[in-house]
Amino acid sequence: MMPCWNCADRIGQRRIREGMLEWHGKRAADIARMALVSAELRAPICPHTSHIIAEVVEAYRREYAVTLGDVLLRRVPVALGACWSESCSREAALRIAAVLGWNELTMGANLEAFEMERTAFSEACPQDTAAFEAAAD
Ligand SMILES: [Zn+2]
Repeated sequence: MMPCWNCADRIGQRRIREGMLEWHGKRAADIARMALVSAELRAPICPHTSHIIAEVVEAYRREYAVTLGDVLLRRVPVALGACWSESCSREAALRIAAVLGWNELTMGANLEAFEMERTAFSEACPQDTAAFEAAAD
């Protein structure tokens, strides 16, 4: 039997919570509280990940992230995941821009710099899990 939508929703939320706990430890509670504020903050960073925009905001606010590369390649390195493509970058930039109040120019500049860094990053260490783990520190 298929689970009802409510249950599926709960399972989805639990997956997000577990993912955040694993990744952020104690700060997961702060991020979860922030995520309650708006649907934009609860949105996944790209359509293929359970990491959410609130984690990105946390990285900018509390983890000294300055660029999209700091966030998506190091603090919450979803862009190193198998799904990631240029369209994921664009989607993520749009969602982050909406929350951080970037205008189109700022978003474009951030996205362009990020894509250059991501390309350099993936050429430097293709599928290198050691780099992925180092990035998580
Ligand atoms: Zn994706």
